Amino acid sequence: MKRLFLFFITLFMVNSSVLEGQKNQSSPKLVVGIVVDQMRYDYLYRFNSLFGENGFKKLIKEGSNFTFAHFNYVPTHTAPGHASIYTGTTPYFHGIISNSWYDKRLKRTIYCTSDRSFSTVGANDSKGQMSPKKLLTTTITDQLKLATNGRSKIISVAIKDRAAILPGGHTANAAYWYDSNTGGFITSTFYMQQLPDWVKKFNDRKLADKYMKSIWKLSYPLKEYEINLPDNKAYEKDLFSENKTTFPHSFNNVPKNMKRSLLSSTPFGNELLFNFAKAALVNEHMGQRGQTDFLAIGFSSTDYIGHSYGPNSVEIEDTYVKLDSLISELIKLLNRQVGNGNYILFLTADHGVSENPDFLKQNNIPSGWVNFSVISDSLKSFSKRKFGNINILENFSNKQIFLNYSNINSLKLNLADVRKIYA
Ligand SMILES: [Zn+2]
Repeated sequence: MKRLFLFFITLFMVNSSVLEGQKNQSSPKLVVGIVVDQMRYDYLYRFNSLFGENGFKKLIKEGSNFTFAHFNYVPTHTAPGHASIYTGTTPYFHGIISNSWYDKRLKRTIYCTSDRSFSTVGANDSKGQMSPKKLLTTTITDQLKLATNGRSKIISVAIKDRAAILPGGHTANAAYWYDSNTGGFITSTFYMQQLPDWVKKFNDRKLADKYMKSIWKLSYPLKEYEINLPDNKAYEKDLFSENKTTFPHSFNNVPKNMKRSLLSSTPFGNELLFNFAKAALVNEHMGQRGQTDFLAIGFSSTDYIGHSYGPNSVEIEDTYVKLDSLISELIKLLNRQVGNGNYILFLTADHGVSENPDFLKQNNIPSGWVNFSVISDSLKSFSKRKFGNINILENFSNKQIFLNYSNINSLKLNLADVRKIYA
């Protein structure tokens, strides 16, 4: 259960003048939605001593902190997380039941946002063959668009395609995501036929290539980090081919064709995305158009880093320390461009992460990795025992059981009864 999570955090920054404004029935000029991929609630207090005063701490101090929040669905992966946040409903209704899932009609596994009827804008590859069409309900961004007769501008940006596309809903002006082939941001013909000039100019700056020449250094001396474990745990991945997992990390030994992709697994991925969001904010005049605009930002690098190093790593703590500075810079920019009190900002996570099972084992806590093929085999033998036929079961994936309705029919079994037995 690699992605089992424990907490959910939602912060709203609505400062007093917005509240005043709402009393007078006026609307905020801009809504900024931030989803931090794989952020656990405990990071807010565990890493607190290295946070500045104007990032996470400011959001908590001046905003509302919703701590009594729970997930009511499984599995809690990135796509259902982003879809649930923005639709306000669960996968059963919005249809995004995982990142990829088995489609009973097509009899194959499909990806949440893949759509071959559209092509890439901004690169000569297939990474833009995407759309939000598998999302079955509206999002808060769609509802804003409907409420203003299409006048609100909705821009959604992320490193991961699904983290940009799903929050933008069906009516976004644009969703942009990182293309690890080119190191730039791309979109799909679902949204537009060519990139706006500001996106082309941003991509021409080749920021990704500049970051690849940088070194990931800690923001503070190692001894100041909360993580009281060594920085070279056996289960940490040697992402940078350095034969070590301690700081600093450089791209020097990474094969050239892997560097742009690896960038997503470093805080530079967040920095790149932040710079892109900043460019969107300024060039699209977000919050300055006399309508409520919506900027959705998905910080995806936190998830890649979390999967490689785990929630008890110096790497993850340093990533959040650096993200805290970016949040602080973003608030400063919003105050300058949109005006303090004229925008609503919320920050939440699509899911959390469990402790690494090998870390738990090292600490004598009973743990282990789930072997899904063993579960699949025992489901088959259960089907054989119970119904004399393993073909009752069509597919087991994504921690979900898919029944074969036509076999159930031909065996003259009652579908509701069969469902109950598997439940
Ligand atoms: Zn995620």
